[in-house]
Amino acid sequence: MVYVITSACAKDDICASGCPEEAISSGTITVDGTEYDQFFIDPTKCSDCGSCEASCPEMAIFSEDDLPAESKSLKAVNAAFFKQ
Ligand code: SF4
Repeated sequence: MVYVITSACAKDDICASGCPEEAISSGTITVDGTEYDQFFIDPTKCSDCGSCEASCPEMAIFSEDDLPAESKSLKAVNAAFFKQ
């Protein structure tokens, strides 16, 4: 299981600075005509510790199994960011 950052991200880097795996980066990606300008989690690095979810002031981070229905697509968006 990995964690996913949703579009509620306000680009506060507290999640990235606290990640023990250095799995979180910021930037932009356009997927299916929608531009995402936020932080993203690299699913190949995330160790499922949960630190980022607990630290996010916007409550923008979820484990993949707990993603709200409207944010399910963000799992693929997070992964795609690290492949571009
Ligand atoms: S769950 Fe832990 S390892 Fe995964 S991105 Fe968040 S802080 Fe990093």
